[in-house]
Amino acid sequence: MIPVAKPVIGEDEIAAVSEVLRSGMLAGGETVSHFEEAFAQYVGVPHAIATSSGTTGLFAALWSLGLPTGSEVITSPFTFVASANSILYCRHNPVFCDIDKKTFNLSPDSLIRILRHRKNRPRAIILVHLFGQTCDMGSIMEIARENGLKVIEDCAQSHGAKWRGKASGSFGDMGVFSFYPTKNMTTGEGGMVVTDSPVLANKIRMFINHGSRTRYHHEFLGHNFRMTNIAAAIGKIQLGRLDKNNEARCRNAGILNRYLTGVPYIQTPYVHPDTLHVYHQYTLRCPRREDLADYLLGQEIGTGIHYPLPVHKQPIYENLGYGRISLPVAERSSKEVLSLPVHPSLTEKELEYIGQKVGEFYEGTSFSGYHNP
Ligand SMILES: *Cc1c(COP(=O)(O)O)cnc(C)c1O
Repeated sequence: MIPVAKPVIGEDEIAAVSEVLRSGMLAGGETVSHFEEAFAQYVGVPHAIATSSGTTGLFAALWSLGLPTGSEVITSPFTFVASANSILYCRHNPVFCDIDKKTFNLSPDSLIRILRHRKNRPRAIILVHLFGQTCDMGSIMEIARENGLKVIEDCAQSHGAKWRGKASGSFGDMGVFSFYPTKNMTTGEGGMVVTDSPVLANKIRMFINHGSRTRYHHEFLGHNFRMTNIAAAIGKIQLGRLDKNNEARCRNAGILNRYLTGVPYIQTPYVHPDTLHVYHQYTLRCPRREDLADYLLGQEIGTGIHYPLPVHKQPIYENLGYGRISLPVAERSSKEVLSLPVHPSLTEKELEYIGQKVGEFYEGTSFSGYHNP
């Protein structure tokens, strides 16, 4: 079976974890600090705060802005649910903005339309660099500046991705990364908030540590969202291998493209010329997506659907009254996307096999009524 995702763990990670275990210093400490410094340097920002997950990182980041309760915060409906949930944790109101049909990222045109029509002025935006490709950061940062929006980048899928040579996470007020095992780098569970602002960095550090800067003095209600030294030891090694693994993902995507570009009805991943895409996912837009997934499973090829239900159609959000809103591009995309394996450990042979099998499925079939968007 070829899995759709697979973390790359080597002897170096095992040795680093053993060293932490032998040291007895298991919870947060020096190893976490070293990982934070290395990560900040990688992104090119002065501050990085390690967290227990990407989700807790998003919560801490949005909380640190100190917006009034009930503020409107814009985000994408086509993402993992955590992006939007962080808005609910903070007791703000999510406003969903439709996506671009080619990149699946937030559409600047839809963003402008939303800002023109909202009665309450939205205060912030949580944008998501989906599948490993950054949003159109030229347009979005300009719109954010003109409208006084704070910007949080959800970089859970974009470690090492760039827009015009600048790293994802370094554009907005904050960038938030996840180190879940399926991501481009992992710590088991874990996350990281990066920022230029020493004020926000300090607030986040306290928030994830029970509102405390001095031991047993608690200035406000916080949480325990800290990373362990065990996780950070893995992260340091993984960070050192990130660029190499991202290059392997790009090479793998290139091999899949060789087989799939030109297959009728399939849309291979669109890469905006200003981005460095790091292929967290290699996601097709294609007809008969379920049948294709079943067929590939029968050929021992794993696939993933990212995402089968847009966030505003999730029961959590339907129950809050979001079910009625119409976001046509996100809704259509959720029915047509299928992610193929692209992770760094795939061999050229496996990729050729995947490419051939997808081609085989569509060979000789015609789909009347299906139009590529
Ligand atoms: C994985 C992911 C998250 C959440 O990260 P966790 O570490 O799993 O909490 C948030 N946003 C997006 C876009 C993700 O892919």
